[in-house]
Amino acid sequence: MKTQKDLKNIELFLLDMDGTIYLGEDVFDGAIDFIKTIIKKNKKYIFLTNNSSKNKFDYINKLHRLGFPADEANIFTSGMAMGIYLNENYKGKKVLLSGTKALEDELRDNYNINLVNEGGDVAVMGFDTELTYPKLRAICDALDSGVPFLATNPDLVCPIENKRYIPDCGSMCIMLENATGRKPTYIGKPSPYMIDILSKELGISKEKIAVIGDRVYTDIASGYNAGALTICVLSGEATLKTIEESKIKPDFIFDSVKDLIDLI
Ligand SMILES: [Mg+2]
Repeated sequence: MKTQKDLKNIELFLLDMDGTIYLGEDVFDGAIDFIKTIIKKNKKYIFLTNNSSKNKFDYINKLHRLGFPADEANIFTSGMAMGIYLNENYKGKKVLLSGTKALEDELRDNYNINLVNEGGDVAVMGFDTELTYPKLRAICDALDSGVPFLATNPDLVCPIENKRYIPDCGSMCIMLENATGRKPTYIGKPSPYMIDILSKELGISKEKIAVIGDRVYTDIASGYNAGALTICVLSGEATLKTIEESKIKPDFIFDSVKDLIDLI
């Protein structure tokens, strides 16, 4: 059972964005003050996103436009985590990627990944909003040859404006599974991998890390799987009812991040 003292001891806050600090273009009341309070208390914060179709500068631009302080050190995407994962597990190997130009650039320029258009020693599926049939075919060929299969995130859909959505990486992987019988290892939430990396890189132990999000089965599950403190906010998807029905329970539930301002 976590207490308010555990909350006070948190040194690193890992925050989801959509549904947690804003919804689309609408900033939640108190969200900017919460981030400013983290800074004032000399604690750290990083926005964690499963979306591998954009790069960190797209997020920094949006956060700035909405009034949030953020620089490169404050953003961690599942695409960046993929770069680290590939270097830890498949250093120097040829990687066949189906992903956006932004993800390609991220992996090649920032993680020195050797990307190829066909063949490859590892197949990687991203949230590819620029997907084409030749890319699908190349991935199927690679999977059929038995190479390891990785994917950035298991989300089936990605919400866009006006309550609409677009198919996400998880849906593309189900198509590949139907075609090849292969299932990927997902790097993004609910895997603990992104949290494990940040804990190791920043030298902050898991008890001093809090994960804050609005989805129990991704945000809260990743924190739970990593052994971090978990905080579910009711400003987005989760409701008290869905939390009650879930096997995984957050350590704390608040209406919004505003409620945390006086508790950290
Ligand atoms: Mg969310």
